[in-house]
Amino acid sequence: MRYVSTRGAAPVLTFEEAMLTGLARDGGLYVSETIPQLSHGDIAALSGLPYEEVAFRIMRPFIGDTFSDDDFAEIITKAYAPFNHPARAPLVQLGPNHHLLELFHGPTLAFKDFAMQLIGQMFQVSLGRQGKRVTIVGATSGDTGAAAMEAFRGLAAVDLFILYPHGRISEVQRRQMTTPPDHNVHALALDGHFDDCQARLKDMFNHFDFRDEVALAGVNSINWARVLAQVVYYFSAATSLGAPHRPVSFTVPTGNFGDIFAGHIARAMGLPIEKLVVATNRNDILHRALTTGLYQTDGVSPTISPSMDIQVSSNFERALFDAYGRDGAAVAAQMDDLKSTGAFKISQGALETLREGYASGRASEKETSAAITHALNTTGELLCPHSAVGVHVAEQHLGAAPMVTLATAHPAKFPDAVETATGQRPTLPIRMSDLYERSERVTQVDNNLTTLEDLIRERRAA
Ligand SMILES: *Cc1c(COP(=O)(O)O)cnc(C)c1O
Repeated sequence: MRYVSTRGAAPVLTFEEAMLTGLARDGGLYVSETIPQLSHGDIAALSGLPYEEVAFRIMRPFIGDTFSDDDFAEIITKAYAPFNHPARAPLVQLGPNHHLLELFHGPTLAFKDFAMQLIGQMFQVSLGRQGKRVTIVGATSGDTGAAAMEAFRGLAAVDLFILYPHGRISEVQRRQMTTPPDHNVHALALDGHFDDCQARLKDMFNHFDFRDEVALAGVNSINWARVLAQVVYYFSAATSLGAPHRPVSFTVPTGNFGDIFAGHIARAMGLPIEKLVVATNRNDILHRALTTGLYQTDGVSPTISPSMDIQVSSNFERALFDAYGRDGAAVAAQMDDLKSTGAFKISQGALETLREGYASGRASEKETSAAITHALNTTGELLCPHSAVGVHVAEQHLGAAPMVTLATAHPAKFPDAVETATGQRPTLPIRMSDLYERSERVTQVDNNLTTLEDLIRERRAA
């Protein structure tokens, strides 16, 4: 399998190269050149298998000869061993035809663990055999950074730097990043928004001298391997609910469009998905873009679902690439408009394709809170605010097909919002109960590329 850039002007890479590279050199994102197809029988055979076995069968066709079957099976086993639930991604029922896919049983209590744990193991095997060292820099709205710290801490071949927006993440998220004692991981509190963190990260990738000097690698959701890891649970959930014999719908709380794009890949591989619903909080650029065809940034407002407080949704570029019939030049032109004017207009044809592929909705702060209260009162389930955005939007899209809403984080990651909505303070799982006592290590930094690059040069192990 070969990987091509969404802007059509970067080298074509193998899976291993795309995984280690992150952002393409033309500023685009890597996607697989073709989408492997699963037959009705292949999909039916997934039903009831252990999560690890489903993961192997879904991802194997994408990785080419990067890993042998034995190595890949071992990577998957190690990646999901720290999870706290034998099903890895269990389903619970919220209503007659509405289910919640709990993606928060990993080591940092958010769905990001599914991809990051896997990437950590893949990097270790790949870099180890090449005798290489890389510097990974990541931008986070909270959960990616925590998951990356957990996945990469202590690994000999990696220095990890995580940029997070100072003062704009929850205390649990911050502590998960600032308390790992390992010297190869570094938390950087940037003076700005998540979009600033993401912009500086992109600047570093586009500064080729720096990129080559420190052997820069990326694990943000722009990394294809992350999208791939997330395709798996669409299959495990849908086959548990009767696919491929009947179609299933999914609603996905969305910020950077990575998780929902994984659903699009699952569908393109042959999984019968009736509706794929984008759920946004009041930072609703994606909902507006799908409704009006105009993708227009207008500032980020902080919400109780901070991991979705995003205006520049990186992975949307992958959806555009498909909607434009994989025309990299067309995507590059739109991204240039975005950079110079803060907006772009999706062509009529591409918009129609996107609307066929994705439904959408938004939840206000009040609606999000009300969804948390309602779920607890009617089912006993405590939702995190991100999952609650999903549940609110999903209820407007219920139909004949079973609806699955992705629960993207554990409620104890966002205890204040949950307590305000329900009067109940969610508690951390026992293995994390001393999180508030561990000592923190963090560096505050200006929103400035040169300062950041100097700091990274100085801190990384030469
Ligand atoms: C990252 C995150 C999201 C958004 O996921 P994307 O893949 O960026 O769309 C939603 N909820 C939580 C809890 C997250 O950590």
